Amino acid sequence: MSEPSIFTRILNGEIPSEIIAETANVFAIRDIAPQAPVHLLVIPKTPAYRDVVELAAGDPALLAEIVDVAHRLAEEHAGGDFRLVFNTGAAAGQTVFHVHAHVLGGGLAEGSLGG
Ligand code: AMP
Repeated sequence: MSEPSIFTRILNGEIPSEIIAETANVFAIRDIAPQAPVHLLVIPKTPAYRDVVELAAGDPALLAEIVDVAHRLAEEHAGGDFRLVFNTGAAAGQTVFHVHAHVLGGGLAEGSLGG
């Protein structure tokens, strides 16, 4: 068994973080090192999927739920428009191998892919 991810530890209350949205299957927090004026993370409660490729293959409904929660949070916190990022693999910047969506919004540069 591998160690619980930092997100599982947050969900279990072992690491302090405000849970800003929650459904039966996912929860959301603010990123501790924001890369945009609004930078939230939407995370499945299950640690079963390490990245979005595994998630899409294993539970597409859960992926759709992440997108739905991201949309709702963007409407609440960022005026509706948002960028949804799934870093996939260490070389692409993924550091936590418990799949999560970055929801970026508010004052993003037009046409930019950078965060
Ligand atoms: P990634 O690099 O795509 O795996 O994303 C992991 C994200 O988790 C990074 O943007 C980190 O800033 C964020 N992060 C790490 N620890 C915490 C924490 N305790 N609370 C909130 N966000 C965190």
